[in-house]
Amino acid sequence: MKTTADGLVIWETKTGEADRVVTLLTPNGVITAYAKNSLRPKNRLTSTTAMLSYSNFELYSGKNMYTIDDAQSIKRFVRLASDVEAYALAVYFCELLKLLAPVEEDARDFLTLALNSLYLLNERKKSLPLIKAVFELRSMAYAGYLPDLSGCARCGAPEPQSLRFDLAGGAYLCAECAKALSLQPNCSRAVLHAMRYLLGGELNRAFSFELGADGLKLLGELSEQYVLAHIERGLSTLDFYNALKL
Ligand SMILES: [Zn+2]
Repeated sequence: MKTTADGLVIWETKTGEADRVVTLLTPNGVITAYAKNSLRPKNRLTSTTAMLSYSNFELYSGKNMYTIDDAQSIKRFVRLASDVEAYALAVYFCELLKLLAPVEEDARDFLTLALNSLYLLNERKKSLPLIKAVFELRSMAYAGYLPDLSGCARCGAPEPQSLRFDLAGGAYLCAECAKALSLQPNCSRAVLHAMRYLLGGELNRAFSFELGADGLKLLGELSEQYVLAHIERGLSTLDFYNALKL
């Protein structure tokens, strides 16, 4: 059966002599598709099925996967290729999407988040740590791990000066309640506000918040640890991105 879908290439694997198997994030979920001859330089699928290409695909459904018959480019994030750090971050986003986005089910929120994040990385309009934190926390929320940031999990305090963000539990304790449980605060009020802001509203406003350098660093550590606490495995693409900054 023939069908068409807009899709972002979030993974590619070489197969055969010059073919790719690609993972596509579409509005209707993640699918796998075969792109014959797409690694030959002059093939019509060469650029449209490359990593991070957003294209409209003509697909045939097969037994185990789709076969791409043709593709038209919608958007290519070409500047990413010349920025190693931004590219590495984009590939980490893709690995997370591959893990978190649903297969053949509504994935429009993941796709919109991915396209917005790649656009900002490509245009270099926001700092990489800020884009990374928004992507991590929002993708975790879409995957069902929305942290409860409304108040202290023990006493309900909504505006503590400092607090203990409980990564595994997806909630926080105010400094007093943390102390009562012999825990150290690990988060500031400014970072709590940033988290509420980037998770709470429309996606197109989620990237527009200001946080000082220390706050952004703390937010980045917590959002990354939040991802790792819930997916319960390491991510080689994240290790690679972090190694670039050392
Ligand atoms: Zn409390």
